[in-house]
Amino acid sequence: MRNFETSECLTQLPDTKFWALSAGWQGLGAVVQRWFGTKSMIVVTDEVIADAVAPSFKEALRREGLTLTELLVLKGKPPLVADYQRIQEIITQVQGLLTTPMRDGKKGERALCQSLLVSLGSGTINDLVKCSAGTLGVPYLSVPTAPSVDGYSSFGASILKENFKQTLPCPAPRAVFTAPEVLSAAPVQLRAAGYGDLASKITAGSDWVLADAFGLDPIDETAWAYTQEGLIKRLSAAPDDLANEIFVGLVRTGFAMQITSSSRPVSGAEHLISHVWEMEHLEIDGITVPHGIKVGIGLLTISAFTFLVLDHMRNGINLDALPKIPGPEVRAQEVAQRCAHLPVSAYRAIEEVALSKLPTQETVNERYNYEKKWYRNLADKIETQLVPLEELKGMLARAGCLTSPRELGVDRSRFLRTLEIAQMIRSRYTVLDFAWETGLFESCAEEITDMFF
Ligand SMILES: [Zn+2]
Repeated sequence: MRNFETSECLTQLPDTKFWALSAGWQGLGAVVQRWFGTKSMIVVTDEVIADAVAPSFKEALRREGLTLTELLVLKGKPPLVADYQRIQEIITQVQGLLTTPMRDGKKGERALCQSLLVSLGSGTINDLVKCSAGTLGVPYLSVPTAPSVDGYSSFGASILKENFKQTLPCPAPRAVFTAPEVLSAAPVQLRAAGYGDLASKITAGSDWVLADAFGLDPIDETAWAYTQEGLIKRLSAAPDDLANEIFVGLVRTGFAMQITSSSRPVSGAEHLISHVWEMEHLEIDGITVPHGIKVGIGLLTISAFTFLVLDHMRNGINLDALPKIPGPEVRAQEVAQRCAHLPVSAYRAIEEVALSKLPTQETVNERYNYEKKWYRNLADKIETQLVPLEELKGMLARAGCLTSPRELGVDRSRFLRTLEIAQMIRSRYTVLDFAWETGLFESCAEEITDMFF
């Protein structure tokens, strides 16, 4: 078995105790016994995986001496949506199974402890099971079937509730265990999405360095190591190894989120761009674009944006030339102008965040009060985190990712608006905030837009 982590590393995590990639799921029996103290499991999956992977998984369970209590197949061809109603359905079904008399005639809590919940599938199934297990108060085992998201090993699940995509708090899996041949056989689009999401840690990292420098979000060294160590090497893996390497990278970034109870280590301004498109329900030919594909374009955009900002940063910041911070009323009007096309609830939420993150003039004057040399050093440090644009574009293209907002059907004015909204929607400090507060935003946004259109 190839185990990528030592047990020492995993003792630092609040929820996940073990994880492995093992051909044919060899060793799963021992892992389940050790970490869950049971042999029986309820497996949740979707119709596609029920056909493609479940037969070999069942066979592996038999070989490993494990008992499949029930295979719950969620109906509906993909894209299955991770919505709250589904979670309630899963909970009801699982409760029904768990309170069914066991062979020894006992019901209820005891049975609940004897069965283990397993997610067999990609991101959506994992989020649904994670949230269901969290609500039921039982640990779960994640068995990913595609290297597509970093949520397999993270705390919290991304769920659509009351028309709003939100991260609901629930524990990460106690163990993550899958087989490399399953990951390699996953659809290429899912792998490309995973690649985009993993590559996005490049600018997630550069934004974190920036925020750390201004004392706004200190870097946690362990979380940084989980996310950034070996990142470029993984992204440059040979085609045969790529699926496994993407998966390893994504699992590690999930651990970083467990450690910090935050998505800061893995999500910067590139994710904000994707979030805007998610709020706008961006689709191609009626099909939702995978998160990692949108994030990949966000990554190229924010890399280019950051390179431009660094050029300016090296000249230092002239405090006398800082733009005047608008008052709340003016800012609210700006939000209203940019977000008029969004549903009222989304627009109100953005307005609240944009106003709450609005700094005072004094804060800004204090924040940027450094010598030119300090900025030069910071710019050099941030640059080492970035990948040159053409190289990055080539990496994304080779992995099957899209490399221009045009390919998403986004036009020039929408793209410019996306950048502006991205700066408004989250309190997390990124390069967009640096540019906005120092008067660079408009010119950099225009220049980046010219690059794509
Ligand atoms: Zn992501």
